[in-house]
Amino acid sequence: MVIEVVRIGQRVVRDDRVTTHVALVARAFGAERIYMNEINPEIKDTLDKINDSWGGNFAIEFMDSWKHIVKMKKEDNYKIIHLTMYGENINDIQSKLRQEENLLVVVGAEKVPREIYEYADYNVAIGSQPHSEISGLAILLDRIQNGTQFNNTFSNAKRRIIPTKKGKNVVVNETRD
Ligand code: SAM
Repeated sequence: MVIEVVRIGQRVVRDDRVTTHVALVARAFGAERIYMNEINPEIKDTLDKINDSWGGNFAIEFMDSWKHIVKMKKEDNYKIIHLTMYGENINDIQSKLRQEENLLVVVGAEKVPREIYEYADYNVAIGSQPHSEISGLAILLDRIQNGTQFNNTFSNAKRRIIPTKKGKNVVVNETRD
């Protein structure tokens, strides 16, 4: 399964940190790529540094139009999941989502354009209460992959954590770079 994410409606400055965290969650929870407006190019630098230290090829692509990305992915047979508290309960839809092959997950910032509800193959609610795109994305990705995303290894990492009960155990690959 390939999972990609689109962040729409980022507000200048105010949403920088949240957008960075949406990208970090997407990467750590098994998505391959995130599309976002080029509101703050530093977000890409931050994620590039994370890839450099912790491995993998997670990509940030700047887009001009979320609609263009959604239409393009639909043509490539991706299913579009829009995260919204007004959607179908994740508990009811998760088994269906697990059967899909390629997914594009759309998360908002402020009020999202009405059209996205129509473009979406699935409007999915992580509970019908307002919370955040960061928590929504994390829970969606975990429900779809059922925890298996945490067995993924990130290729060519400089640093790798050995899970440990107490303290920090980090293996540093001196031969890389
Ligand atoms: N008031 C906004 C609206 O009506 O679209 C919601 C803004 S919310 C801070 C930002 C994003 O978080 C939403 O666009 C949605 O993607 C996500 N989100 C928040 N609560 C959610 C929930 N319960 N289920 C799924 N996604 C949620």
